[in-house]
Amino acid sequence: MRTNSPEFDLTSEELELYDRQLRMPSLGIKGQRKLKESLAVVAGIGGLGCPASLYLTAAGFGRVKLIDNDVIELSNLNRQVLHWHHDIGRFKAKSAEDKLRRLNPFVKVMGIVAKIDEKNVESLIEGADVVIDGQDNYKTRFLLNDACVRHRIPFIHAAVQGVNGQLMTIIPGKGPCLRCLFPSPPIETKPFPIVGATSALMAALQVLEAIKVVAKIGTPMIGKLLLFEGEDTRFEEVPIMRNPECPVCGKLEEA
Ligand SMILES: [Zn+2]
Repeated sequence: MRTNSPEFDLTSEELELYDRQLRMPSLGIKGQRKLKESLAVVAGIGGLGCPASLYLTAAGFGRVKLIDNDVIELSNLNRQVLHWHHDIGRFKAKSAEDKLRRLNPFVKVMGIVAKIDEKNVESLIEGADVVIDGQDNYKTRFLLNDACVRHRIPFIHAAVQGVNGQLMTIIPGKGPCLRCLFPSPPIETKPFPIVGATSALMAALQVLEAIKVVAKIGTPMIGKLLLFEGEDTRFEEVPIMRNPECPVCGKLEEA
């Protein structure tokens, strides 16, 4: 991040666009400039990634990179709200890029059609100030977690199923990583049930966490797993310790 560069001065139109969030003393123009300087990577443009990238773009992150290699199917549309009926068959990264560019022309939106793997994960997240977990599988989540830990990039994890969700903010060196939370991948069912409002809720929380981390306001969900149970409308926090034996972050020095 580069502070005090005129490149990141807010134009009069941007000041008006972000007026209602600039009124928050904790964010203010200083925080908004930090958002404008930042690159947010959204890994997966599905149920979590659509609403997450929508709110990242609306909030004024300067650059938003969207990564997904899937094409849109009819059964995606109950939750992947950036993809519309006429988009069926298009790449998700490109469909989302189109909508987000129209939402906020001050944000550089980059849709990348790529399947995240061991070989490309490093280059895909290079230079990111925050990475949003929009995945539906733990294999790719672990790849992202491991690369984020190596490069000390904040990683905002969320997962959803049915009307339930979970969230944890991973700041490498400051708290546990995803492998501290799950030493082995949880059992996954595919395709899993999901109500769109659940993924929207957890994605909105991911964006709030990203804003807090990048603008350095408030207290992110570090070292705590937030669990949401939709049937009873209940939130719960579970403390998570950093595992000194963690193969990924165990040897990492404190940030
Ligand atoms: Zn760890």
